[in-house]
Amino acid sequence: MQTNFQLSRRGLLAGLAVLAARPVWALPSNPDVVVIGAGAAGIGAALELTKRGLSCVVVEADSRIGGRAYTDTTTFGIPFDIGCAWIHAADRNPFYKYAQDDGYKLHFHDLNLTSLYYGQRRSDARGLKREHEAEETIRKNSERIAKRRDTAVTAAVPQWTPPFEAAATYLGPMDMGVDLSDLSTTDYARSADLDPNYLVYEGYGTLVAKVGESVPVKLSTPVRTIRWGEGKGVRVETDAGTIEARAAIVTVSTGVLAAGSIRFDPVLPEWKETAIGEVPMGLLAKIPMLIPGDRFGIKPFENVLIETPGRQEIYFLAWPWESDLMVGFVGGEFGWQLSAAGEDAAIDFAKQRLAQTFGSDAPKRVTKALFTKWASNPLTRGAYAACLPGHYVEREKLGRPLAERVFFAGEALAGPLIQTAGGAFLSGEETATKVAAQLAGPRAKAA
Ligand SMILES: Cc1cc2nc3c(=O)[nH]c(=O)nc-3n(C[C@H](O)[C@H](O)[C@H](O)COP(=O)(O)OP(=O)(O)OC[C@H]3O[C@@H](n4cnc5c(N)ncnc54)[C@H](O)[C@@H]3O)c2cc1C
Repeated sequence: MQTNFQLSRRGLLAGLAVLAARPVWALPSNPDVVVIGAGAAGIGAALELTKRGLSCVVVEADSRIGGRAYTDTTTFGIPFDIGCAWIHAADRNPFYKYAQDDGYKLHFHDLNLTSLYYGQRRSDARGLKREHEAEETIRKNSERIAKRRDTAVTAAVPQWTPPFEAAATYLGPMDMGVDLSDLSTTDYARSADLDPNYLVYEGYGTLVAKVGESVPVKLSTPVRTIRWGEGKGVRVETDAGTIEARAAIVTVSTGVLAAGSIRFDPVLPEWKETAIGEVPMGLLAKIPMLIPGDRFGIKPFENVLIETPGRQEIYFLAWPWESDLMVGFVGGEFGWQLSAAGEDAAIDFAKQRLAQTFGSDAPKRVTKALFTKWASNPLTRGAYAACLPGHYVEREKLGRPLAERVFFAGEALAGPLIQTAGGAFLSGEETATKVAAQLAGPRAKAA
């Protein structure tokens, strides 16, 4: 097996570039609010707090801001998003407005499947239409079921014929990051249709980092302990010292919370622990491959799904921006398995699918590839959260503050825009607004 890249070196260089570009802030040691995590939610929260005249410090464990929004600009000769790539729900997503105002190159991208393969057999237009109809049926059935009970979305699949198998793959692992058997019907029914979608040439990660440029942040500073039981405010302990603040906004993923990477003192109440456990991280992992030359009869920006028996599917975003990249995606249970097997195994798997579908010469033409490592990244522990069947009520508890001084925000708390960067940003803004009201006291709340 062959390793085609050096993630650690690239990650280090990218981190250094961001560090070098950031202004050095005089950070208040006792701000009104301390925000934990400088992803989209932390950035949204910090900008809103500042707008409202509150002082804040964002504490970030990584050496860069952006969290799951991160663009690699060196490996493929074209910006490549390791994390989020589509500006979903652009009509409601603040990042779309930022991108337009700053002149980013945007491409409207319809996410409907355009090429569907059952193994080697390419489905014709009728087969494709049947898959689209199957997606619609699953969606509508989920909404209908959700009115009566909360169960697994598999209950919304009327039959396991090939179009429904493909639709279940595309809606489950490739979109929600979980198999339909692990997804609550209520969670699914309440998540918004994410149209319209845009891709950003410069990278969504680049855009998020730019939006967060003015945020006062302490990088490379993991938060170890949040003390919230004494006095009035919070004490947030890091290796670089303790920050005292009137309130904290925690934006780390449910994966990080579940792993206990941050200690709470007093410990989290049982209802909060339960909520964290019932909204676990799903997985979406990417296997971009550089394949110069012939395009297998597939046009740039096509959405290609290769459906195979045994739940080992792969989706490709084909040749974005007319580049030589075929961006493979795996998700759900199979995504976790492949992540455990490691990068070489993942790239081999993607090459096998190329060979089966486009001919045995196809993998030989791959000149570079990588596998994203969100599953093992200790700062995320997955891609994004999805609610387990029967446990939708836990979403609300996940967002409930502790003692009116520890607040929560992030993609898992983004209402209809769960799992998205735009939703995370809005959740940060909304939580900051609540914190500001809280800190202003009862008079301001009543006004
Ligand atoms: C492969 C993949 C593809 C995706 N595709 C899309 C897409 O196309 N469009 C879309 O909208 N969304 C997409 N998403 C989801 C999107 O990236 C996330 O929903 C969003 O970025 C989450 O933002 P957040 O602020 O809630 O969390 P995060 O970005 O995870 O921010 C939390 C921050 O907390 C930091 N942190 C963790 N532990 C500590 C600690 N102890 N102390 C201090 N800091 C800590 C982390 O380093 C991180 O920076 C994708 C995600 C993945 C992984």
